[in-house]
Amino acid sequence: MGWPIALASLAPAACLFASYPRQTRRAGVFLGVTAALCASLWLREPGPAAALAAGWSVLGSAAAAAAVWRNARDHARQAGELEAVCRKRRELAAALTEVKRRGTTAEREQKETLALYGMIKSLADALKWTDIKPKLESAVDQVLGLTDYALFAADPQAKGSFKLLAVHRLEGSPGSSWATLQRCLQEQGLELGRAQSIEAPERAVVVPIADDAEVLGYFYARAAPGADPAALLSKTAAFASQVSFAFRRIRLFQEVENLSQIDGLTGVYRRGGFDDRLEREAVRAKTFKTTFGLMLLDIDHFKQLNDRYGHPFGDQVLKRVGEILNVSVYDTDFVARYGGEEFVVLLPRAQAEGAARKAEAIRRAVEAEKFQLGFETVKVTVSIGIAHFPRDAAAPDELVAEADAAMYEAKSRGRNQVVDSWSMRHSS
Ligand code: GH3
Ligand code: MG
Ligand code: MG
Repeated sequence: MGWPIALASLAPAACLFASYPRQTRRAGVFLGVTAALCASLWLREPGPAAALAAGWSVLGSAAAAAAVWRNARDHARQAGELEAVCRKRRELAAALTEVKRRGTTAEREQKETLALYGMIKSLADALKWTDIKPKLESAVDQVLGLTDYALFAADPQAKGSFKLLAVHRLEGSPGSSWATLQRCLQEQGLELGRAQSIEAPERAVVVPIADDAEVLGYFYARAAPGADPAALLSKTAAFASQVSFAFRRIRLFQEVENLSQIDGLTGVYRRGGFDDRLEREAVRAKTFKTTFGLMLLDIDHFKQLNDRYGHPFGDQVLKRVGEILNVSVYDTDFVARYGGEEFVVLLPRAQAEGAARKAEAIRRAVEAEKFQLGFETVKVTVSIGIAHFPRDAAAPDELVAEADAAMYEAKSRGRNQVVDSWSMRHSS
């Protein structure tokens, strides 16, 4: 009888042990079995010892089961809380990734906007195609990130025709010339004047650069492999609409310049103004029996200068030579740009020696000028031919021919010098 009671007294500890840490079902089964065993013990041996052992083991096992159940409940709650924390963490990590992605997009968009803004600002003062070309090229590179493209500008002389302004890496592409591009679009039945993508012979976009009034140019861009043509089209169309104002301004400037007597680049008179003035000066000199001098000036090796330092530098030289001429002569004298890098100066009432001295002073002033290009100092010289009315010729065109011949003589003698037509003819 002693050992069942002794065993029964171990029931609570056994229950705890068997169902630790959270085996609630096992604790319940254990409790049920303990209760049944205690009932059978009581039935077999009723008495205070059996009652005590049964009470202890049932109540103890119940307490152990309750402890296990509480532990399981607390654990489930904590696991739930932990899961919620983990979920929250995952959500936060996803949100952070999204914020980072948006940040990168915003940063890229800001860079693009800044580049676009810088480009618009830099285009604001462009008055000539030579000014705008390098700015547009750097904008296409920085704002659009394109490498294979061509820009065309409307030809003011031929309506509906466009001149190539810039072309990059388009050898063999229809975009490399206006004629081939036009033919390519016609063959595909695509109309000019609106932004569109083409698929053959290569994937590309053709976008007009236009304002409300007319199409001022075209932008052709070849799509990079794998690029989305729709995105390229919308980007290039936005770009074209931004640059159209600069195309319009250059066009207006050209029109104003055509109407004006002054050459826009050098600030001296244009050729047309000179022809009229020479005619009138010859009539006046004949009428009043006076004289005048004619100087023809040509910049030496100007082509080399353009080729070596670029067209904008050549323009800078032309501008400076125009300024030197303007400040070197009297207000009554007349300076004009005769052709590309040639100038003429009319010196009313000048004596032959005076005209020669003036020409020499101009030659020296140009020679003394230092043109700075980065760290390099560039020197420029001019050759000048002089003819005198009526000494060398009485007709205006003959006088020009005399000055021209003298100028070529200066070239053949080694450049950077003044040759007088009279002394040239009478020196031999
Ligand atoms: P030379 O000493 O014999 O006169 O040689 P050159 O190189 O000056 O003569 P050439 O007539 O061969 O070259 C004249 C160059 O002037 C060619 C042309 O590209 C350039 N030119 C003409 N008009 C302009 C202009 O408005 N701007 C610039 N930058 N260059 C021009
Ligand atoms: Mg020349
Ligand atoms: Mg020259």
